[in-house]
Amino acid sequence: MEKIVSLCKRRGFIYPGSELYGGLRGTWDYGPLGSELKFNIKQEWWKTMVKERDDVVGMSAAILMSSKVWEASGHTQSFTDPLIECKICHQRFRADQEKEIEEHEKQHSKKKEKVEWTEPKKFNLLVEAKLGVIEGEKNTAYLRGEITQGVHVNFKNVLNSSRLKIPFGVAQIGKAFRNEITPGNFTFRSIEFEQMELQYYVKPDKEKSMEYYEFWKGVRMDWYKNLGIRKENLRFREHAKDELAHYAKAAWDIEYNAPFGWQELEGVHHRGDWDLSRHQQYSGQDMSYFDSEIKEKFIPWVIETSGGVDRAALFFLIDAYFEEKDREKNGAGRIVLRLHPKLAPYKVAVFPLLANKPELVKKAKEVYDSLKTEFAAVWDERGNIGKRYFSQDEIGTPFCITIDFDTLEKNDVTVRDRDTMKQERIKITELINYLDKKLK
Ligand code: ATP
Repeated sequence: MEKIVSLCKRRGFIYPGSELYGGLRGTWDYGPLGSELKFNIKQEWWKTMVKERDDVVGMSAAILMSSKVWEASGHTQSFTDPLIECKICHQRFRADQEKEIEEHEKQHSKKKEKVEWTEPKKFNLLVEAKLGVIEGEKNTAYLRGEITQGVHVNFKNVLNSSRLKIPFGVAQIGKAFRNEITPGNFTFRSIEFEQMELQYYVKPDKEKSMEYYEFWKGVRMDWYKNLGIRKENLRFREHAKDELAHYAKAAWDIEYNAPFGWQELEGVHHRGDWDLSRHQQYSGQDMSYFDSEIKEKFIPWVIETSGGVDRAALFFLIDAYFEEKDREKNGAGRIVLRLHPKLAPYKVAVFPLLANKPELVKKAKEVYDSLKTEFAAVWDERGNIGKRYFSQDEIGTPFCITIDFDTLEKNDVTVRDRDTMKQERIKITELINYLDKKLK
């Protein structure tokens, strides 16, 4: 983990939030490469979940939502974690995080102290915001604790402004905020984070809804595998009865085998009619759906897939990180991020063999200009070729292209593959086609 954190900082993936002023715990800023990675993750998610489907549309709701929404959804009452406090140093922990608690007890026992804990208290995770201009008359609103409710409160709006028929889904990507008791493990548990979610509305039918549930579980697991996470590092885990959220009829997590143990990457939840019926009850508005085929009115049930963009980014990075220790082989002792080409911040790097030969630089610039409109490309002319390869491997750039003296005569370039380190001569006229095929 330390190596990943340091690589992220050094190469511009992720920095600690508000670092200049001593930091703000549980917040992170994404740098030039991190924001490209996140953008690519979201784009791939949107492609799979919205663009390639006829039964899913997207939306983007406000982050600030009326406190009534959270009363209806049950969050003001039950969006809580059990909090315990160490009676010696007053540090607070989530009562269900055994590893952290054990670690804390160890720290004290080294000093020959025995920890006593307070009784677990309910701690609400919603982050409050005060809105209004007059002091004393400000209203409490909440930064959304999950992006889910923005979709459900718009169920009727989406239905009335589209031609969708059940079953259909509404997808959304956006920020959520939680007053986490113990933010940590880098970006894994943050106060501010981004979610990507699908709310899929189905008929209230036990058997059929479970079929959809299984279908979406499969789609989500495949999505991670298709984007390169090794299958042995992914698993499903069913929530135990006492772990189920207040709304859930069934819940399975997709977990990743992180350096700090198996951890939740995404949740797939059967939410039943919880959300729509609560919003109907609290708003007094009809939230039902009329099925014109069977001439019946009902409150749809919801199958939800809820993943974290930040957790996905972190686990994609961890899974792609390799240190190649064999210095004999190809002379390489390198760090390489074997990111899927679709996720890599840059797809291709272009170098002139020598930075002080204007004819090489000119030709290389031409190649670079022709590629950068097609692929995310980056220019590098610092140091020697070996260092440039090393630098691109470390950020996961799948291909490096070198323009040398032969290029000037033969109009071909050296293309070097990140994973195999093999080099090929390719005609400049064929370059776009070649990369296009390889990057798919
Ligand atoms: P946990 O048990 O780890 O607190 P959760 O079960 O509360 O997570 P959900 O409410 O199911 O999480 O949220 C859906 C997804 O949102 C999670 O799978 C995760 O990817 C992401 N997520 C939730 N909380 C955080 C957080 N504090 N920081 C980063 N990502 C988060």
